[in-house]
Amino acid sequence: MPFSSLGLRPELLKALKPKDYPAPTPIQTLAIPAVLQGVDVQASAQTGSGKTAAYALPVLELLLRQPRQWPRGTPRAVHSLVLVPTRELAVQVGETLRSLAVQLPTNLKITVVFGGVSINPQMMGLRGGADVVVATPGRLLDLLSKNAVNLSQVQVLVLDEADKLLDLGFQDELQAILQSLPAQRQNLLFSATFAPAVQSLADALLTDPVRIDVLPLAGTAPDIVQRAISVEAPQRTQLLKHLFQTHGWKRVLVFAATQHACQIIAAKLRKAGINAEPFHGQLSQGKRSQVLADFKASRVKVVIATDVASRGLDISELPVVVNFDLPRSAVDYTHRIGRTGRAGHSGLAVSFVGPETEAHWRLIEKRQSISVPREVLPGFEPQTPDTAVADAPHPTGTANDPTGGIKGKRPNKKDKLRQAQRLLSPE
Ligand code: AMP
Repeated sequence: MPFSSLGLRPELLKALKPKDYPAPTPIQTLAIPAVLQGVDVQASAQTGSGKTAAYALPVLELLLRQPRQWPRGTPRAVHSLVLVPTRELAVQVGETLRSLAVQLPTNLKITVVFGGVSINPQMMGLRGGADVVVATPGRLLDLLSKNAVNLSQVQVLVLDEADKLLDLGFQDELQAILQSLPAQRQNLLFSATFAPAVQSLADALLTDPVRIDVLPLAGTAPDIVQRAISVEAPQRTQLLKHLFQTHGWKRVLVFAATQHACQIIAAKLRKAGINAEPFHGQLSQGKRSQVLADFKASRVKVVIATDVASRGLDISELPVVVNFDLPRSAVDYTHRIGRTGRAGHSGLAVSFVGPETEAHWRLIEKRQSISVPREVLPGFEPQTPDTAVADAPHPTGTANDPTGGIKGKRPNKKDKLRQAQRLLSPE
């Protein structure tokens, strides 16, 4: 089905260069007509499947169909509000919206606001309102408290990476923002994953939604090869260096558990002559933007990041993602490895699994319905005798069970997860 049959005006279609947008992706085919009907939508589709354009195109189309007519006394009004969990994603979504609006005869005002930078230019930028505001929740609340933005006229609310925004970490901020929005509005929730824990919150937000779930069909799932390499924690930096050098990797995104670990690993790689930079929430926004720009321009070869980089970031031609530390959950695993294998490209996701993280990795495998053979590389063989126990298929209730299989003493799934998480500290 071509883009031209989805109900979008010719000026929007003109912005879709055939090289970049040869045909709608499945999520675009399903979501664009639904959003144009004006109904609430909850859409999930795999990472890298064109979700941004799936809401950006119909939001722009709706904007043009419903020209701005704010009532008197609402000078800083906004038509559409897109909330995203990270600053980098805000920039990226803003860029996509602007590139899609470039051929429109009406000059739409698309304003991006996020924390970590001076608020004054953003306050100035919101004078006179905006057609679309893309925002991270914290900065939007700051702007609301300063009366710099008026959300009472918002007609479309988009939550990109919706499950993250509905998650505990953002819950209070999101609730405060929702209170500033009119009750009558269209709600669009987009994410690659919707953890069961956030579904009731999603349900409370949506009215008679159209639910779109684009399950990856055989052959259309992101082409990501997943590898798990057994390695003891203290050997991981050495293994990372070894893999980088022997495979001639051009660009690698490495995930670590803490900001401190990111700093240490980057420093060690730099010492070995590998151009590496840390990327985490403690860095200034200027530094974060610089690292990302250098990474995209191949000036930096390896970025070691916390999960702040796991959501939504679209780094073209990112062939490898490494889980130096395992992610906390299977959902985080999906988002991390989804940074590679995007838009039809293939990718490689390597996870370092040690004797002490084996149980946690098994849980991830189980939740992902995958089974990744453990590889042992010469020179990096785990020495801990416990490996044999960890490698056994069912540690509890067997001869290898450290609890001896005593009824009532067996660690349940949650215990094992907690235990694995406690052991996930960086070297
Ligand atoms: P997203 O899931 O929105 O982060 O998009 C992932 C990548 O897919 C981005 O690089 C987009 O430019 C690209 N993309 C979006 N729509 C299409 C399409 N219809 N055909 C090919 N690539 C696309």
